[in-house]
This record gives sequence, C-alpha cells and structure tokens, in this order.
Amino acid sequence: MYEHVKKIDKELYASLEKEVNRQEHNIELIASENFASLGVMEMQGSILTNKYAEGYPNKRYYGGCKYIDEIETLAIERIKKLFNAKYANVQPHSGSSANMAAIRSLINKGDKILGMSLDSGGHLTHGYRLSFSGQDYESYSYGVNIETGLIDYEEVSRIAKEIKPKLIICGASAYPRAISFKKFKEIADSVNAYLMADIAHIAGLVVTNNHENPLPYCDIVTSTTHKTLRGPRGGIILTNNEEIYKKVNRNVFPGIQGGPLMHVIGAKAIMAYEDSLPSYKTYIDQVIKNAKAMANEFIKLGYKVVSNGTDNHLLLVDVYNTLGISGKEVENLLESINITLNKNTIPGEKLPPMEASGVRIGTPAMTTRGFKEEEFIKVVHYIDKAIKNRNNESLLNEIKEEVLILTSRFPLFKN
Ligand SMILES: *Cc1c(COP(=O)(O)O)cnc(C)c1O
Repeated sequence: MYEHVKKIDKELYASLEKEVNRQEHNIELIASENFASLGVMEMQGSILTNKYAEGYPNKRYYGGCKYIDEIETLAIERIKKLFNAKYANVQPHSGSSANMAAIRSLINKGDKILGMSLDSGGHLTHGYRLSFSGQDYESYSYGVNIETGLIDYEEVSRIAKEIKPKLIICGASAYPRAISFKKFKEIADSVNAYLMADIAHIAGLVVTNNHENPLPYCDIVTSTTHKTLRGPRGGIILTNNEEIYKKVNRNVFPGIQGGPLMHVIGAKAIMAYEDSLPSYKTYIDQVIKNAKAMANEFIKLGYKVVSNGTDNHLLLVDVYNTLGISGKEVENLLESINITLNKNTIPGEKLPPMEASGVRIGTPAMTTRGFKEEEFIKVVHYIDKAIKNRNNESLLNEIKEEVLILTSRFPLFKN
C-alpha cells in the first residue's frame, strides 16, 4: 500500500506503515471509530481536493465549479433522502464545526444553553467550559440518574424550567441507551426553547430505523459522518425549516469556514449511497447485536455495565467498581495486548476524569471487519482474562497471540 509515498518520502512512510500495521493487527473498540470503505477512501484521495468552491451549488465565488456543483448536489440530495430531511448542509469540516454553525443559527452570544454534561456522556460542544459552546453561551447541563444510568426526563424538565434556556441540546458521545427526542421536544416546548439533536454517534442507527429519527422533533440535527455512518471525517447539518436552513448556510460559509473540502463532500456522497443499501442495514443490525452480546457476556462474568446493557452500538463497563482497577489502567493494559478502547467516566464518577472508573466499548469498527457475536464474546473473555491476570506477563503474551490470530482471520487491508 501507498507505494508512491514509500518511494518519495521514507521518513513519513515509516510512520504510515506502522499505523497501517497497527490498524490491521489491533481489535478496535473505540466507539467513535470505523473503517471507511474503498469508495470513501478513493473519493477522499481524489483530485477533488484541488478545487476551490467557496459558496454553494450554483452560487460560487469561483469559476470551474460545474462538476463540483453536481457532486455537492448529489451529496445533499442523498443525505436528505437518507435522513428524511428537507434541507442539508454537507460542508462542515467536522462534527464540532457543524455544532458551532448550528448553535449560531438558533441563538445569540450570551444566550442560555442546556446540554448533557461531559461526565454523563455529553460532548465538549454541548456547553463544556473549555469549548466555544461554554465560552460564547451561558451553559448549563443535565446528567443521568446515578443508579440507572438513564436520562431522567423529569429532571431535565425541572432544570429547563428553572433555567429557561434558549436552546436545549440532546445527543451524546457515551450514552448506551435510546434517547427520546419526543420527550426532549415536549420539554423544549414547555420552556419555549429551540431543540437541537447531535446524533454524531447514533446517526447510522437512525438511518436504518434502529433508533428514533430526531428530525420531526428538532429545529436542527447535526452529525459527524465518520462514526457509525462509516463515511469520511466530517460533519453535516440537517433541518426541516427553510428559514433555519438559510441561517445554517450563512453560518457555515462565510460564518466559520472558507472553501469546502470537495474531496470529503464527494466521499460523503458515496457514503450516503452505501448507507442506503440493504447491506448497510444488515451491518447496523449486526453492530447492535454485537454490542448486546458483549454487554450480556460482561454481566455474566460479574461486571457492572452502566444501565445494565445497551440499545445501541456501545457499552460502558464500570471496571473500577467491579475489580478496583481504573479505566486508564485498563486502557493501557489492553493496548499492550493489541486491544484499543478508551477510558470513560461513569455516572456518579468518583475518580478524576483522567483516571475514570469505566471503559467505553463500541462495536462499529470490528463489525465492519466481519466480527459477529462469537468473536465479540471472545474479545470479552480476552479483556476479562487480561484484567484478572494483569501481572502475569506470559499469560498476557498468550492473549496477545490469540488477538493476532483473530485479527488475521478478518483482514482489513486485503491489498
Ligand atoms: C464525535 C462527536 C462530535 C464531534 O465530532 P468531531 O468531528 O470530532 O469534531 C460532536 N458531537 C458528538 C455527540 C460526538 O460524539
């Protein structure tokens, strides 16, 4: 792979090759990651990267945009159809820029926003103090019930009534259960607030009807395209409201971005095509079955799993309150045997966030490589065995050998 880079830049290639091998020989459990298809990779590596196309289809600030317009229009139309949305902006460079443009399209600087707290599974851009969203707006947060791990809608409603936010943001990065957009809409209406859903993680499940679609309930919906959607790294903004759509377009360009990444927009178009196929529905169904199989197996082995299971593509395992080992230690331990995941805070977290009591485990990436329940259950046992024998070097080496055999049966790069 990457023969040309290999020929002309040995220094860079040395690192690239190591990363290729890492991806090939690791069990990837980071819930926000996936393996992009060859079509997505081809588009991202295409000559579309050469073109400046500030503006929108048929309203550009540059010449030579005839075919670029066709491609962006294709991406817009396909993504609208995929989500059953009236309007779509496909230019945000990332999920975070999509959120910045979306929030700016609904409220003014200094207005109050109410989002899910970071330590309950929310995202930085939902009001965290070090993010633009916590700095430009007066931000408040809701969490989850410490016992159940679930969003307590009555509590959200109580906070909303007390604070009277202009905007409520729902959606999360580490929430294993279904979110009721309908209930959030009722809360938003009761305090006359706008409602925005950020479905960066669960967009793939929304597309395949495995999760409620937020569009009928929300003023704006944002998403990334590189997580469960399995497209290129980027963001999208959806709405059913024409006035809001016009504001979104202005806020993306020229508000916060310059020229669009046309190679990425091309990749978003092919992603939307791939995600409309029956094989993608089969894929997402399997992602969910695999997450449930893992959660059940962890529970069988005596682990505390936040909310006692999962409805989606991820689960949170409370390793600290199960075995007295922090999430950070587990992350490091598993990295040494080629299993990649991330530490994560749990509801009612008592450790510092850099230690964390839990780990977040997602099934989208390895399901793309072909893992089914059987393989994911094996992975649970590798993790369990590694944690319980963390000082036994030779046993850890044995588990790593098994990981290598398993990953080699599901090749990522087939050349
Ligand atoms: C990943 C994520 C984002 C941000 O995406 P980036 O592309 O990394 O900026 C935004 N919101 C949620 C809920 C996410 O999980």
